[in-house]
Amino acid sequence: MSMEIAFFCSIVYFRHIKTLRGVMTNSTSSTFRRSARAAAVELSEIVKISEAARTLKLEGKDVLSFGTGEPDFPTPAHVIDAAMAAAHAGETTYPPTQGTPALRSAIGKDSGFDVTLDQIIVCTGAKQVLSNALQATIDPGDEVIVPAPFWTSYSDMLQFSQAKQVTIPCGADAGFCLSPEQLEAAITDKTRWLMLNSPGNPTGAMYSADDLAGLAEILRTHPHVWILADEIYQHVSYLPFTSFRDAAPDLADRMLIVNGVSKAYAMTGWRLGWGIGPAELIKAMVAVQGQCTSGASSVSQAAALAALSGPQDLLATRLAEFKSRRDNVVAELNDMPCLKCPNPGGAFYVFPSCEGTFGKRTPKGETITSDADFCRYLLQEALVALVPGRAFGLPGHFRMSYAYSQTDLTQGLARIRRAVDALTD
Ligand code: PMP
Repeated sequence: MSMEIAFFCSIVYFRHIKTLRGVMTNSTSSTFRRSARAAAVELSEIVKISEAARTLKLEGKDVLSFGTGEPDFPTPAHVIDAAMAAAHAGETTYPPTQGTPALRSAIGKDSGFDVTLDQIIVCTGAKQVLSNALQATIDPGDEVIVPAPFWTSYSDMLQFSQAKQVTIPCGADAGFCLSPEQLEAAITDKTRWLMLNSPGNPTGAMYSADDLAGLAEILRTHPHVWILADEIYQHVSYLPFTSFRDAAPDLADRMLIVNGVSKAYAMTGWRLGWGIGPAELIKAMVAVQGQCTSGASSVSQAAALAALSGPQDLLATRLAEFKSRRDNVVAELNDMPCLKCPNPGGAFYVFPSCEGTFGKRTPKGETITSDADFCRYLLQEALVALVPGRAFGLPGHFRMSYAYSQTDLTQGLARIRRAVDALTD
């Protein structure tokens, strides 16, 4: 790529980020003032990268973006049909705030847990389940333990709910997983929740039944600590999946399981997720949701009901496709100089280390000193959008989603290889 194009890309990228910052600060209006709570919340780094890539695309640049985590498959046809039928049948009025009994019943059955309908809440995506839970339980200064790397929205949601995030670094050597010793050391009188995500975003790391049993043993000795188990990638598991609730059923009375249809059934746009937990917590979350957004969209609830009660063979078919992509991406990245890519057990992300590129020089003579530099270089020189690890609380890495077509992945990996090969000492 020519110097002019690279320079142009960087101008577009930085101009765009500046515009976004302008929107997020008070610079455009004399009377507008953000609340202190809102000021602490940033536009997600993933959104920034995706927007920068989109801007370059609009400018006619052939950008390949591996920044976002949504399946590239279509929503199953029978699910769309069910939603349309529901709309035509008049399911277009306010739905019950907690979710329709039919959907909650299907969720209970799908989970395999021994639960009643008052232990289930349906929300506008798994994201709102997390947000409701924090809004319903956190007082300023309450502590929440979060192993890093973590999904970017966790930290912003915690900021917004005025919790104190207690971040525990869990590097590649530890399989990106929290150990019982680390958990024990992090718990204080103020600890409210442990947030655990398995399979995890951004690493794809999975906690085995034994791993969860080890954490549960510690949690049994600290009855004031609740467990927020985000299992949204349950159906994208290449290793045997164990729910925290199955690993420690005796802790179910202080555990919230988070799940939804977004990732498993390629339904990110339908915005439908759910939480399963003790009735007293669910009731408090329903109260929050009732005053913020009301029940999740009625047609999306009908669609989710069809997804859960319809044929399930597509889960295995899509999992096999993701696994084949994972194998290919991991092998390719590990074959490149300076990159090290652990093999993830689930989800559709890899989280390789790019520390081997630090100190190297780009063809333009710039020195790479961080994951952000590396991702900026790849966007400018290779027109490949990736997210720096610092966005997930673990710098020195980057996240690449492989929820993209094999064609795009092959082309993107070839571009990354060329860009890495072009670095010099
Ligand atoms: N948890 C994790 C770990 C995620 O990666 C995501 C989506 N990126 C969510 C929750 C939110 O899922 P939903 O689309 O159902 O809101």
